[in-house]
Amino acid sequence: MATAALHAHPARLRAANWLRTLAALAVLAGTVAFLMLLFGRTGERIALLMCVNVAAVVALAAFCGNTGIVSFGNGAFMALGAYLSGILTMPAALQRSALPDLPLWLAGHELALWGALPFVLLAGLAFALLTGSAISRLVGPSAAIATLGLLIIVHSIGVSAREFTRGSQTFYGVPRITELVYVLVAAMIFILIARLYRESRWGLFVRAVRDDEDAATALGISPRRARLVAWTLSGTLATVAGALYGHILGAFSPASFYLGLVFAHVVMMIVGGMSSVGGAVVGVVAVTLLQNAVRNLEGGITLGGISLPEVFGLTTVALGIAILLVIWLRPQGLVGGFELAPGADARLLERISGTARDAPAPRPVSTETLQARDLSKAFAGVQAVAGASFDVPAGRITGLIGPNGAGKSTLVNLITCQYTADAGSAEIGGTRLTGLARHRIIENRVARSFQNLRLFSGLTAFENVLVAALAAGYRRDQANAIALRELEAFDLADIAAMRAENLPYGARKRLEIARALAQDPAILLLDEPAAGMNPSETSDLADRLIRIREDRNIGILLIDHDLRFVNRLCSHIVVMNRGQKIAEGSPEEVRANTAVVEAYIGRGRAARAADTDPAQQKAIAT
Ligand code: ADP
Ligand code: MG
Repeated sequence: MATAALHAHPARLRAANWLRTLAALAVLAGTVAFLMLLFGRTGERIALLMCVNVAAVVALAAFCGNTGIVSFGNGAFMALGAYLSGILTMPAALQRSALPDLPLWLAGHELALWGALPFVLLAGLAFALLTGSAISRLVGPSAAIATLGLLIIVHSIGVSAREFTRGSQTFYGVPRITELVYVLVAAMIFILIARLYRESRWGLFVRAVRDDEDAATALGISPRRARLVAWTLSGTLATVAGALYGHILGAFSPASFYLGLVFAHVVMMIVGGMSSVGGAVVGVVAVTLLQNAVRNLEGGITLGGISLPEVFGLTTVALGIAILLVIWLRPQGLVGGFELAPGADARLLERISGTARDAPAPRPVSTETLQARDLSKAFAGVQAVAGASFDVPAGRITGLIGPNGAGKSTLVNLITCQYTADAGSAEIGGTRLTGLARHRIIENRVARSFQNLRLFSGLTAFENVLVAALAAGYRRDQANAIALRELEAFDLADIAAMRAENLPYGARKRLEIARALAQDPAILLLDEPAAGMNPSETSDLADRLIRIREDRNIGILLIDHDLRFVNRLCSHIVVMNRGQKIAEGSPEEVRANTAVVEAYIGRGRAARAADTDPAQQKAIAT
């Protein structure tokens, strides 16, 4: 029964996704029908432009929504597509007069629209790869500025490359598309591609990077590559959308693809909500309807006896107001996180009980030992870690304790190459970790959690674990089953469809461990997993960790302040103070060590405690 439910589960999730995709398609088709019924020929023209805008904005959002970086580069790709497709399809006779200086290899092809499409696609792909190799290195505002730079450069080239584009003069003679159905189908295909990409391995990777780049990297995801994939897909789609747009206009100039168009597309994306494909569609629909309503006012209108004057630029003002209102009242856009609607998925997941028996069994862990040797790190004069050496063997929970600022977290960051070590190294099974790229640590089966929660807040609990299994190299079906198994193991299956940001604190802490375990590590580094938990949660976590060690023979490095918790779990404890290892041994040995006692309760009080105060001694001992 449990297994049957499980089999059905990923399929059900997919079904929910398809329903939402269908909803987006229905909104589009419904609006097209509405425009045509109400406004006839004019409505058809508006619908035509609306559909090509849907294609363009869905392309734009494939990058922006999934990376969280606003891009203005769409116009550059659209111009490339429009001019290239125009040149390739233009009647030869017309081309001789319009573009007399066109290089011979480009001239006189007179291709059909379909014939030009592969070349447009390839050109878009090549241009996206080229520009993406630089832009994918950037994040946040600097990435956005770089895309603006790209737009400006391509615009300037468009104006100056007269033999190809007629400069800033009108480029004419482009065969027109007047059939609405082609453009509508094209827009729908764009929506499907964007939806598939969003749920795909690379779509999940780049959304994880968007939410927390460091955590995604620690899972084995290369942020640069993930962004490059998003940029390349988005740019290629935008090039095709640009070609469509060019064929709808029939005549255009570089200005047709410049700030005016780009601004309108960014507004459409943000108004709808850039984090979902449905948002892009709704944004275009809403803004198109708004633009057309306002355009009627632009020429002056008489309302109930009062005549309003002509106002030029009113549509742009309306766009500006729309974006301000949305940012103010609904920062997530009109649609927001529609594609993540927790309610629907939660009901689906509720039906799953039992464990994920189909998940591939964890690979055996036998003799792997993580060895830290003389690791050192200084920050601007603070010696955070000074020559620390210790082992974390498989099958043992090794405690790492020490007062605040002792260097424990820095040590984990050194082992996982989050920081570069000044000296020393970390190795596992003879393979050197130190010096590896951060996203390659997991290849050596070392996984970690972070002291301050670093979940992918916009992803569901399920997706948080799924993305970890995918990043560790599992196939999609395996990763699905592994994610469910780990969610079950940490009592998170009921809330698997909730976004991580909405989970209660204890659940978030458990989710971070589940995520690390989904990568099938041999060694797991846990930085204060019990911090902030109440006593019953802490004891529950201890039970789970003990079970994991017993079941899978994993080696765990456990950092915590709570000595009771550490003593219960660890057979071996390493103690640090001020960057140095001051003691190591069994809990009893460590407890008896005077340096440890001093580090924990201070020199003077330690001496007194040893003499007189049995309660104080007991506090250290338990
Ligand atoms: P612990 O985890 O044992 O509490 P940390 O490893 O976080 O200690 O910190 C050890 C010391 O290194 C502290 O003095 C801390 O201020 C310093 N430190 C840690 N990370 C950084 C950093 N990124 N930049 C500067 N100083 C740091
Ligand atoms: Mg710490």
